[in-house]
Amino acid sequence: MTVDEIKSLLASQGEEAQALLNKGLQTKLQTLDNCVHLRGLIEYSSCCAKNCLYCGLRCTNASAIRYTMSDQEVFDCAQLAMQLHYGSIAIQSGERSDRAFVDKITFLVREIKRQTDGKLGITLSCGEQTEETYRKWFDAGAHRYLLRIEASNPDLYYKIHPKDHDFDKRVACIESLIKIGYQTGTGCMIGLPFQTLDDLASDLLFFQEKQVAMVGMGPFIPHPDTPLWQYRNAIPSVAERVQLTLKMIALLRIIMPEINMVAATAVQTLDPQGREKAVKAGANVIMPNLSPENYRKEYLIYPDKPSVSDNAINDQQELEKSLQAINHRILYDAWGDSVAFTKQHLKS
Ligand code: SAM
Ligand code: SF4
Repeated sequence: MTVDEIKSLLASQGEEAQALLNKGLQTKLQTLDNCVHLRGLIEYSSCCAKNCLYCGLRCTNASAIRYTMSDQEVFDCAQLAMQLHYGSIAIQSGERSDRAFVDKITFLVREIKRQTDGKLGITLSCGEQTEETYRKWFDAGAHRYLLRIEASNPDLYYKIHPKDHDFDKRVACIESLIKIGYQTGTGCMIGLPFQTLDDLASDLLFFQEKQVAMVGMGPFIPHPDTPLWQYRNAIPSVAERVQLTLKMIALLRIIMPEINMVAATAVQTLDPQGREKAVKAGANVIMPNLSPENYRKEYLIYPDKPSVSDNAINDQQELEKSLQAINHRILYDAWGDSVAFTKQHLKS
């Protein structure tokens, strides 16, 4: 698909837009199936050395509450994922690259693998690291890594990051992850200030060019304690950001039919039915939050993150029901690897 074709579909409205979402769903059902894979999300630490202009965890946000989970709390989350038959967890964190942090993640990954007899798949999302660190974590047992490019147009990238961020370094990190052998995921935010449909089309083509195995895209949600808050009235409305996200998901499913695609929490934040709508547009991964209740409200990337009960079993039953209602089902006890990745590796 060309940039112009993508732009025109992103701008579509009414029946034309609905036809695009239907095509995203059809493509998924024909290429994959109606299964949704779960990754139990562990929000490991709200401490971050970076200062991204959009994120509530940015290091200069003095109102953010900083915590780091204890080893035992992380192991308990992993055990909960096993009990719930999730098959996989994702450890997400503010970015740190000091030795203590790198060693701690290595230890946690290795130990979770040991405690679960290697059964639990582990995705990491801990930001930019050296190739050596990525390799260390891979060797410890992590097999998927999520690092969003955030915005594939360097001009836009530099508008939403402080001066010490380096777009080329970000791209190099994604390339390192692929080279090491991770199932590598990237993604972008949708509805950012200064973002155009050209930018969004380029994001999709960037994912395609890099041949990534997974993508996570979600709407931008302004946080009051961040510099981008001042542009909150200059971005698309909530409904527009949700709709644009769904169109991006459908388009990406059409151009990269076999990848894993996340129904991001941010879309559920803006629309209570957002997660199900994303699945109906072509997403096939959901990341239910397994973090202890007391930490969830402190991992405030953006305001109004969905409040979930402290009863993971009830949450799971609710999720099962809402997926059944849209003719989807959860695939339990499986890593739910990206078909695109598996095929690429069978070839090589
Ligand atoms: N620190 C790691 C990193 O940046 O890759 C992982 C955690 S970070 C909080 C995960 C993702 O949250 C980022 O990739 C970014 O796209 C998203 N995010 C941050 N602030 C956001 C906001 N205000 N609205 C929507 N998504 C946001
Ligand atoms: Fe830190 Fe990630 Fe937030 Fe940037 S997006 S401030 S790296 S947690």
